[in-house]
Amino acid sequence: MKAPGGWRGKAGTRHQRGYGAAWDKLREIILCRDRRLCQQCLRAGKAGHAHAVDHIIPKSKGGTDDLDNLEALCKRCHAEKTAHEGAEAQAALREEGRRRIGEDGWPIEPKVLGYSIPHGVRPSGIPVFVVCGPPASGKTTHVARHAKGGDKVIDLDQIKVRVGGKPYDQSESIIRKAMAYRDMMIRSLADDTAGRAWLIVTAITKVERAAWIDALGPKASLVVIEATADQCLARIAADPARAEAIEGLSEAVRRWERTPPIQTPDRPPGGGGGKSRGILPGTGGTG
Ligand SMILES: [Zn+2]
Repeated sequence: MKAPGGWRGKAGTRHQRGYGAAWDKLREIILCRDRRLCQQCLRAGKAGHAHAVDHIIPKSKGGTDDLDNLEALCKRCHAEKTAHEGAEAQAALREEGRRRIGEDGWPIEPKVLGYSIPHGVRPSGIPVFVVCGPPASGKTTHVARHAKGGDKVIDLDQIKVRVGGKPYDQSESIIRKAMAYRDMMIRSLADDTAGRAWLIVTAITKVERAAWIDALGPKASLVVIEATADQCLARIAADPARAEAIEGLSEAVRRWERTPPIQTPDRPPGGGGGKSRGILPGTGGTG
């Protein structure tokens, strides 16, 4: 229902929503930068004529007008993203009470299976290695050693920097923004047709790992980084970048140490051909 006179509509006028002359200028900058090509189509290896400039992290989720948060989209991709965001907002409301972030910056113990897996994720179109392990077990180092140029790396700590925070940022707003960005990257794997991806997650329990592999489909495989709690704690203590977050990270390691192993296969029966799900030794370093 439209509000009388139009000015009381919940979205406000174009100007009230921040889409005035300044936006027109910004929009033109982005269209030029993106060469009037849809960036989502481009990621899928197609060419699509740009129709709109989109906030990668929606403004409703704290996304800003920073150039990094804007990209050109074609009519179809923009409509899809808008529809998806609507559905996502509904789901987020339902999830709100369930998914909370602890003081250590990690989601609180899963109340629901697959708690950190984005809603509605579809199987990946390209091989994706899900690299699991406790904080400071060497996940990032493993990926840095094995990823080839052009591989996609989805790492929440790196994304925190991309959205304006620090790698071990504990601020809830940074974590939320980074999660939204990470979820978007994970979802986009379904549309990828070339290359490979690495996804870094904690996924302490086998149940969580199985849920990731199940969600990402037959092209996903698991890499479990093995390290002892003492090794992780020592690396955390020795890393200046982790100094601010030392308590939370150490507690996350202890929680992982306390988590009893659950006897569940890494891939659910009939889940398809996971290849390299070998247990790899901790590779040292900072990740
Ligand atoms: Zn497009």
